[in-house]
Amino acid sequence: MMHSASVRTAIWRDESLFLVEDIPAQVCGSCMEQYYDEETTETLRRLTEECFASLEPKRKIVVPVFSLEGQIPRRECPEEDEEA
Ligand SMILES: [Zn+2]
Repeated sequence: MMHSASVRTAIWRDESLFLVEDIPAQVCGSCMEQYYDEETTETLRRLTEECFASLEPKRKIVVPVFSLEGQIPRRECPEEDEEA
């Protein structure tokens, strides 16, 4: 069942991250997939292409960034041992 909602999304543009909120959308009640109408899609596309340069940000937030580098246990590879 689809219902109307105001949603937000995160958009990466090269190395920059932009958050957009107050997006009018239709949301699927079972899988939470978001659907935008043509005008909304077009507006988002245009803003993304110009890296949101024509709009003042409503606000800015600090986003914590985490890394999995060194966090995932390595498995021993038996074949490498044979070469040593
Ligand atoms: Zn669905």
